[in-house]
Amino acid sequence: MAVEPVSRPAAQAAGRYAWAEPGTEDLGGGVYRIPLPLPGDALTAVNVYALTDSEGVDLVDAGMALAAAREQLAAALRQLGYGVGDVRNFFITHVHRDHYTLAVELRRAHRGAIALGEGERANLRAVHAVASGRRERATVAGLHRQGASELAGRLGGQDAPNGPPDLTQWEDPDHWLADGTDLDVRSRTLRVVHTPGHTRGHVVFHDAASAALFAGDHVLPHITPSIGFEPAGNRMALRDYLGSLELMLALPDSRLLPAHGPVADSTHRRVTELLAHHETRLTQTREAVSAGMSTAYEVAKAIPWTRRRRNFADLELISQLLATNETAAHLEVLLLRGEVTRQAAPDGTELYSPAEPGPADSDLAAAGPTATEPEPTEPEPTEP
Ligand SMILES: [Zn+2]
Repeated sequence: MAVEPVSRPAAQAAGRYAWAEPGTEDLGGGVYRIPLPLPGDALTAVNVYALTDSEGVDLVDAGMALAAAREQLAAALRQLGYGVGDVRNFFITHVHRDHYTLAVELRRAHRGAIALGEGERANLRAVHAVASGRRERATVAGLHRQGASELAGRLGGQDAPNGPPDLTQWEDPDHWLADGTDLDVRSRTLRVVHTPGHTRGHVVFHDAASAALFAGDHVLPHITPSIGFEPAGNRMALRDYLGSLELMLALPDSRLLPAHGPVADSTHRRVTELLAHHETRLTQTREAVSAGMSTAYEVAKAIPWTRRRRNFADLELISQLLATNETAAHLEVLLLRGEVTRQAAPDGTELYSPAEPGPADSDLAAAGPTATEPEPTEPEPTEP
């Protein structure tokens, strides 16, 4: 009798999420990967990395302020011989709630200092401004500009995709980290590298001696990180992100220690794939504009999403919002490259058109590349 094999998709799915199983993964040299749960989130889990020595422990990223995450972190640290109170430092890659908020909660109950990239000041300020009503929640304004008033209407019933911010989770860090700072973490030295894009103040931590990169959400092994979805917004998020990917190629190839997904061998391999992915997206975006789509929303609806090439209409509301935001970021890079033009309609909607082919004048060609700097733009706040 033939044994029915496990269906391949099911086996792949099980393997795909094996990294999210509770526990600790020993990465050698006193470094452990500790996945913490993100219930109801498509990301499944967030990796916290424990850097241990005989005196105590430092964490890279902290997880989300949830009882289940706190308990799982405590259990994992106990297994390693530490208590939550033994955490000396929380080195946080960026201000998103699944990385930052548990650190704030644990700091309140125990000692432990929080360090965050100094570029995230604007995002923390924006969270507080929105919560106190000093600044309008601007996702909706952004969606109108992107031609997605329909989406804004559907969002209307909800205060925000994640609910109103709880300001007790968004207190300032103890230290703002500057690009290029070397952190002496007893067992190793971590170089802070500013990698704007996923958020404007995102940092990665490079351990040159062990050839390891604590990458946060900058370089993820299985998915492409969202771009510029942050309280203070960043219209140039994709330009910044592509520059931050190139920066990783300028560092020696390293082991990739991501915030979501399993540890991988090569940062360079994944960065090369991500750069190629965005070039494909830029081509699809330019083709959609050539075919007559003029707003970010129209383009987003015209191009396939996720690795399974899903239709925009089949995405959840929050994913549609991210997709529209991301399309707008791609259009801004095409504008920067001189491949599309942009003008504002009287109602503020931004309309993109294919750029006219430039004059084939030899004098102009000899003058070198033409300047395509965009006009400076106000950052557009969105929810964390
Ligand atoms: Zn994130």
